[in-house]
Amino acid sequence: LLTIDGVWKNFRGHSVLRGIDLEVRPHEVVSLIGASGSGKSTLLRCVNLLETVDDGVILLDGEDITDPRVNVDDVRKRLGIVFQAFNLFPHMTVLDNVTLAPRQVHKVAKGEAEEQAHGLLARFGLADKARAYPDQLSGGQQQRVAIIRALATQPRLMLLDEVTSALDPELVLEVLGVIKELKESGMTMILTTHEMSFCRDISDTVCFLDGGVLLEKGPAEQIFTEPENPRTREFLRSVL
Ligand code: ATP
Ligand code: MG
Repeated sequence: LLTIDGVWKNFRGHSVLRGIDLEVRPHEVVSLIGASGSGKSTLLRCVNLLETVDDGVILLDGEDITDPRVNVDDVRKRLGIVFQAFNLFPHMTVLDNVTLAPRQVHKVAKGEAEEQAHGLLARFGLADKARAYPDQLSGGQQQRVAIIRALATQPRLMLLDEVTSALDPELVLEVLGVIKELKESGMTMILTTHEMSFCRDISDTVCFLDGGVLLEKGPAEQIFTEPENPRTREFLRSVL
């Protein structure tokens, strides 16, 4: 579904991604772990075309999305993106937040978009919040709405960057539950997280980034129980 091939990214002469190769299959959940500054968010931003790559290619459904001639909006239509800070529009209700992209970008009719949004809100336990404004919701509820909003456009691939790290611990679980349900529904995802037990639990594949290099990649169970690279071992020892 997604192929990242030899991707390099430099900021002011400093290489932040150094030849990343990664293949994501349909329905696969891939986690990126690694120390702060190792390049996890930058890699997601390259996939989302928020950053241009300096070398290498990224293929989405076989299409080279790093080609300068590519239609960025068309690529983003196929991606669902959720970041650490909930970026809901504060002046819009939950329902309007969730239906905005389907209506404006995908030209779905209002009634149909709202019907679909109500379905998603119900599925994730927020049926009664459709008319609420973001500041009337808890952080966990806001983040669930942000995930639902990303889902509303029926993306091929979800990119989730530290979606629980701005939350109080008691709110983390409800957001993790949503991601788990997404996995069960077959959604393909790339996520970064500092929640190692969750990462182990949900990931098919775990990638360890170190200084912009994808040092080790493997099934979650293997990475957490018998990492091969000493640096992976050192990192896991420091965070577990
Ligand atoms: P964290 O766990 O803290 O979120 P990360 O693995 O997501 O870290 P990135 O945000 O990808 O790390 O950053 C990787 C490196 O790239 C860092 O050294 C960062 O300072 C640098 N960097 C990221 N974005 C920019 C930018 N727009 N301009 C310059 N340097 C940047
Ligand atoms: Mg980051």
